[in-house]
Amino acid sequence: MKKIFLILLLLFGISGCAKLNTDPSISSDEETPFVASEKQLVAHFLDVGQADANVIELPNGELMLIDAGLSGSSEEIIQYIQDLGYDEIDYVVATHPHADHIGGMAEVIDAFKIGNIYMPRAVSTSKTYENLLEVIQDKGLTIKTGKIGVKVLEEEELSIEMFAPVGDDYSNLNNYSIVLKITYGDVSFLYTGDAEEENLEEITGDIEADVLKVGHHGSDTSTSKDFLEKVQPEYAIISVGEGNSYGHPASSTIELLKEYTNHIYLTNENGTVVVSTDGVNIDVETER
Ligand SMILES: [Zn+2]
Repeated sequence: MKKIFLILLLLFGISGCAKLNTDPSISSDEETPFVASEKQLVAHFLDVGQADANVIELPNGELMLIDAGLSGSSEEIIQYIQDLGYDEIDYVVATHPHADHIGGMAEVIDAFKIGNIYMPRAVSTSKTYENLLEVIQDKGLTIKTGKIGVKVLEEEELSIEMFAPVGDDYSNLNNYSIVLKITYGDVSFLYTGDAEEENLEEITGDIEADVLKVGHHGSDTSTSKDFLEKVQPEYAIISVGEGNSYGHPASSTIELLKEYTNHIYLTNENGTVVVSTDGVNIDVETER
């Protein structure tokens, strides 16, 4: 009996060693640079005034929508998506239930075949929110909770992961904002909704990203130096309306962003911003 145990022990010992020996080759595989793909990821940051609407054409052929502007923007968003040639939205993300993010969402959801819907576990009593829930229910869809650790998609060269909300009990709806990172090959995008500084600083994971959708329309209550140190953005995009009453974007936020990048785009000045990538190179086109 003892002999058998000894043999088993040896076998496990040997297999353990063998596993260790293969590790260096695995890590060297990971360091192999991503080869630019023929397939593109195209991220559209729509000019919808003082609001957010982001359409992402994924390289696997699927479509993602993060927020859907104010109620008056729904037709424009629907048309934009149809013009791109889609009749289905595979992933709908409502970062948080404020009217400048979910205002047009009920009509957009009604107009397309919908795959998945992600929302944070935050409750609002607004009519806009109730309308949205009604449409979701009428279509027989169920809401998936958006929060830290949720992996929306995990393919070999394409992943989508949520980094916030970290907590589940906040007084301000902005604090529930879903923060989501899309990585395609070597290129990453970080979407922050209207997350406030304290939420962004709660994030502990790897949020380094080439393209940053700046939080809360460029408000000085969102983007901090600590946060930008973690993200190290090469491109910053702010979705903001001309002459808004909030004073967005804050000049201090623009100054802070300039310490990291000169590629700053604002939807009120540049119109809709379209960022394309093959997983290696990044190309930006603006409406104006
Ligand atoms: Zn907002």
